[in-house]
Amino acid sequence: MNYQQLPILVVSEGHILMADERIEHERPVELIVIHCADTPPGMDIGAKQIREWHLDRGWSNIGYHYVIRRNGEAEVGRDEAEVGAHAYGHNARSIGICLVGGGGGAVDYTAAQWDTLKALVMRLKEKYKHFGVRVCGHNDLDHKKTCPNFNVKAWAGGS
Ligand SMILES: [Zn+2]
Repeated sequence: MNYQQLPILVVSEGHILMADERIEHERPVELIVIHCADTPPGMDIGAKQIREWHLDRGWSNIGYHYVIRRNGEAEVGRDEAEVGAHAYGHNARSIGICLVGGGGGAVDYTAAQWDTLKALVMRLKEKYKHFGVRVCGHNDLDHKKTCPNFNVKAWAGGS
C-alpha cells in the first residue's frame, strides 16, 4: 500500500492541511498512543470541545494531538511538534490520538472512525519510522485504565 495516497485531511481551525505539511517541526516520536473520549455514542464533539474541557482543568491546551470525530473527520488538537498531555510518563516522545466515543468502556466507534484511525496511524508510522515508532493503547501504558477499550496492539497487527 502506498501510504502517501491515503486521503488524510486534517482540519485545524478552519484550515485543511495534510499531516505531512507539519514535518518541519519534527520531534522524536517513538509511540503513538490511542485514547477514547469516554463519551456516549450520540455525543458529536471534536477538538474544540475537548480543548475547552482541558483548559477548564487548568491545562495550557488540549492534551491530544488528534481527535477523530464520530463522522470520521480527523481534527488537529495540539501541534505534533509540541509535547502532549495524554499518557502520564510517556508524553515527551509520543503522539496522542483520541477517538470520540467509548463511553462506559464500550467499543462503539463508527466505521468512518476506524478507517480514519487506520489511515492516520499508517501516516504517522511512515512519518516517524526512523524513530522506530510503535502503536499502543492508553491501557497498555496504565493497566488501571481501559481506554480506548480495545487491544490496540492486536488491532495494529503487532506493531
Ligand atoms: Zn486515554
